[in-house]
Parts: sequence; structure tokens; C-alpha cells
Amino acid sequence: MSELKKQTEFKLYKRDSVFFDQNTAPVNIDYAREVNDVAILPLGAIEQHGPHCPNGLDSFNAICLAKKVAEKSGATVLPCPMYGGHPYMHMGMPATIALNYETNMALIHDIIAGASNVGYNKFILLVAHGQDSSFIPAVHKLGMEGYFTVASTWYDFLGDNKDVLSDYMWHADEAETSMALSLYGDLVHMDLAIDGGGTTLVDGKWKKAPGEMSHPFQFYHFDGTFALMEKDDLDYGVIGNPTKASKEKGDALVEKVVEGYSAFIKDLLEKHPVGVNPLGFRNPLGFNGFNGGAYPTFDKDHDAKGRPLYYNK
Ligand SMILES: [Zn+2]
Repeated sequence: MSELKKQTEFKLYKRDSVFFDQNTAPVNIDYAREVNDVAILPLGAIEQHGPHCPNGLDSFNAICLAKKVAEKSGATVLPCPMYGGHPYMHMGMPATIALNYETNMALIHDIIAGASNVGYNKFILLVAHGQDSSFIPAVHKLGMEGYFTVASTWYDFLGDNKDVLSDYMWHADEAETSMALSLYGDLVHMDLAIDGGGTTLVDGKWKKAPGEMSHPFQFYHFDGTFALMEKDDLDYGVIGNPTKASKEKGDALVEKVVEGYSAFIKDLLEKHPVGVNPLGFRNPLGFNGFNGGAYPTFDKDHDAKGRPLYYNK
């Protein structure tokens, strides 16, 4: 044991990797408990991305961005499950392998709950795919259990209002292809890129696109059944125009996204230092948020009203 501790101390500030699965357990545990307790879970999908981009694009983007954020911020990257949940309109597209909503929610929940046992107290879902249908409910279930979890898509976080891109983000388009060109250009075939389609069921002015800064009087694209089923609507599965993509645009997107996430993590750790669960409690019995006070209320970390002592300073 003393040998193990010695090795751990030696490794503490020089992990083998920002990737959880590439370090040993003692290094990950000591690092989470003593250096940085922010864990990033990259979430993408296995999905057709037109004739020019790989099926793993969303997961690759999430993993590559998470790696850069972790290098800059000191956070740890949990293994990406690769498959993801999907909005209704993706269903039936060949080469898209979708998890159903319950599966994806359970997957996200179980990964976060399991990783908390390492010592992580702050979780960031870095999502690169429109699976709001399952990651949002997962975050709320986790919240009721005492897991501080932030769900974010890189494109919402960016909020690019045509500063870098000429169009808002859609699918296998200028935005996604530019990011792929920046991060793993060898898997992108720009000679095969074609201008895509996509039929909206309400006028575009009523609908906030992914990656668009919000305006008054707009629904979010993923808050309604605003699009035709892609299998009925599209020949190539491309929505938007990837011929406008470039590595330079991708580099600019990556830089802004990495900078934003890293600043958020720094701020989070200043407000809630290593070892502090921002929610102040953890319910080890699992989800039971609606049964009227089943959370621990009288332990040493809470006052008589069940409020975390942490907040009463
Ligand atoms: Zn995608």
C-alpha cells in the first residue's frame, strides 16, 4: 500500500492522460479528490453524416473538444459511449444507429452515478449531437439525486451568430464539417460534399436553429416536430451546405468553444472548490425526488430544514 501511495503521489500532477480510461485507478481517484473534480462526458452519436463525413462524426467532435478542454482546464474526460439518442426525424435513416430515449437516459445516468464514486463532484455533458430529448431529462433525474450536472451542446455554447459561419448549424453541414476538418481532416472527403436540403414545417423565423443566438418569439428547433422525417425528405442526409466548410472556420470554432468551456470550469472551481458538491447533498438511494423529503435531512452536512450547511456560511 505504501508503494502504491508513493506512486500515486508521484503521478498526481502528471497524469498519463486527460482520458480517464488511460490512467490507473489510484491516479484517477487521487486526482479527482485532490486536484480537480470536474469530469467531462463527451456525448455524440453513430449517425449518417452525408457522403463526405464519417458515421462517428458527432462522437469524434465531442471527444476531440473534450480533450482540448481538459488539457486547458485540468478536468478529466470520461469515456464516450459513442452511440446516442436521436430526435424523431432521424429515425429510419440508413447508417444511423439510435438508442431509444430510455436507454440513453439510463446510460447517461449510470455513467455519472458510477463516476461520482471516483470523487468527481461536477459533471459536464459535452454534447455534439441533437439528443436534447434524452440528455435534458437525464440531467433533471441526476439533479434530484444530488449530482451536479450541466448539459451543453458545443454549438449552443458557442452561440455563433454568423461570426465565423455563414449559416446556422444543422447537420453534416458547414459547421459540423468545418469542425471535422479542424480536428480529423483525414476522414473528411470534401470532393464528395454536396449542398443539402431540409424542409421546415413552420417559417424559419419562428425557429431557433442549433447554434443560433436566441431571439424573442422563437421556439427551439428541438422543442417541436418542426421537420419532416429525413428519410422521406432527403436524398443524402445533409441539412445545410457543407461545401462552405473549411479548416480555418473549424479552427476558429474549436478555439472559441475550448476557451468558453475552460473559462466555465475555472469559474465553477472558484465558486465550488475541489471536494465540494455544489448541490450539497447526494442521495445514495437513487431517484425518489417526489416522495416528499426522502433526501438526507438530519446528517452532519445538513441543518434541521435539510439545507446544506455549506450554504449557511
Ligand atoms: Zn452531426
